[in-house]
Amino acid sequence: MSEVRRDPTTGDWIVVAPRRLERPWQPESFCPFDPGAPETGYGWDVLILPNRYPVVSPEAPAPQTDGFYEAVRAYGRALVVVETPEHNLDDLSDLPREQIERVLRMVRDEMARAASDPGVLYFLYFRNKGREIGVSLTHPHGQIYELPVVPERVARELERAEEYWRGRGRCLHCDVVARESASGRALLRGAYWAAFVPYYARWPHEVHVYPLRHVQLLTQLGDGELAELAGVLKAVLCALKNAVGKPMPYMMVLHQAPLRGDHRYYHLHFEIYGMYRPDGRLKYAASAETGAGIYTLDTTPEDAAERLKKALASCPRGIS
Ligand code: UDP
Ligand code: ZN
Ligand code: FE
Repeated sequence: MSEVRRDPTTGDWIVVAPRRLERPWQPESFCPFDPGAPETGYGWDVLILPNRYPVVSPEAPAPQTDGFYEAVRAYGRALVVVETPEHNLDDLSDLPREQIERVLRMVRDEMARAASDPGVLYFLYFRNKGREIGVSLTHPHGQIYELPVVPERVARELERAEEYWRGRGRCLHCDVVARESASGRALLRGAYWAAFVPYYARWPHEVHVYPLRHVQLLTQLGDGELAELAGVLKAVLCALKNAVGKPMPYMMVLHQAPLRGDHRYYHLHFEIYGMYRPDGRLKYAASAETGAGIYTLDTTPEDAAERLKKALASCPRGIS
């Protein structure tokens, strides 16, 4: 079964989950997320299912440790967010805005549940899009990992934000949003949300989406904020799809605070990594990126923003 091990040299957490190997790989004839499949039934529009090949689970055994290495019980829940009964839709952006809003509300409800479980420390919500980057099932879906540890990249962001807050008495992310919104990299700004290509983008078409209100957790967002977020995500993902002439594979990750502790200095946001370069070739995170953590960009964030703004013009307006 799974266990969560820590790399003592970097602080990274690794979930060792050998049972994941058994999951079906891009099956042709049968989709477990279609209506009428054994776990789905009928009469739903959004469904949150337990992942059948979970990385973490409530039954995870105590980890084996030798006292030198750090390991944590792989306690938690892995869930699949089936976003629509319609198997053949390509992307979240192809759903009506109201349906995306339903998806977001379900995720928020699930997070409220997770927050009452003392064994869960972090609620990771993400979405992979595109066979090119290895999604195993193409039926539109997102995923949730309810984890016993804080992912290291988020932990680093927390540290930087706390340092800034201590030093200047302000939110680093609020300052970033103000800068970016006033720049040529701004894509959208509504009553509640801003979307932009950050100055520091690591991927060829990277978009960050921020609530204008300084909040740390998805559960702090109100219905109006979720409604607009649905429109903003629809517009941004549509722009990504149209940016280089063929549907762009992407990864979308929610960065939020851990479920416990005082993190008032932090500011939640979505990061979306569009992985095609302007020429439609896939950008790989290879040695420099994966091995050393230094990203090289074959384009500029400013260029990417121009391309995305053009693509946005033929997308549904995300915000009224
Ligand atoms: N899965 C499931 N029930 C099934 C078949 C697959 O819950 O009957 C899960 C599978 O474990 C996988 C997810 O559906 O985690 C599909 O996820 P995705 O393609 O986004 O990426 P993956 O998690 O495979 O890397
Ligand atoms: Zn802030
Ligand atoms: Fe972030």
